[in-house]
Amino acid sequence: AALRELLLGRIADVPDYPQPGVMFKDITPLLADPAAFGALTDAFADLCARHRADKVVGLEARGFILAAPVAVRAGVGFVPARKAGKLPGETLGQSYDLEYGTAEIEIHADALAPGERVLVIDDVLATGGTADASLQLIRRAGAEVAGVAVLLELGFLAGRQRLEPGLKGAPLEAL
Ligand code: 5GP
Repeated sequence: AALRELLLGRIADVPDYPQPGVMFKDITPLLADPAAFGALTDAFADLCARHRADKVVGLEARGFILAAPVAVRAGVGFVPARKAGKLPGETLGQSYDLEYGTAEIEIHADALAPGERVLVIDDVLATGGTADASLQLIRRAGAEVAGVAVLLELGFLAGRQRLEPGLKGAPLEAL
């Protein structure tokens, strides 16, 4: 409960960003507070241990910032899931639907080994499209989904429901 209050107190509401009618959750105050960022990193690292993760996948771009220190703290590898066209090696790509149009994320084809357990980390779960695409990439690489962990879940966008089939029983943790 104390962690929850600490984290929530460092997330700012920005109205009408990036478009009118959207209330954007800005995590930059949390990143600027070492006590809050450290507590968040510890909490994610605990989830790595609890769900026996061998690697963390961070979702571009804020997922990179959160997942990288978790990987170091938990002693597991960090793998970036990038927007299409940014990774230099051979890639696996997965496209997903947005409200208008589609997007695609990629991982390096050799980034995950068969049987490895992978925890996906991001800042905000909104509609769940991005996280769902990452679950498909993990499975296509032959690895196992240890779970999805986010700082904040926007419940009214029903991302949890969208993720449920792809999780296949793995946990979705919102700190
Ligand atoms: P989804 O695919 O779940 O609809 O969107 C999730 C992605 O969009 C995440 O990578 C997240 O960083 C970003 N996102 C969506 N809404 C917000 C928000 O209000 N605040 C922040 N920080 N990121 C958001």
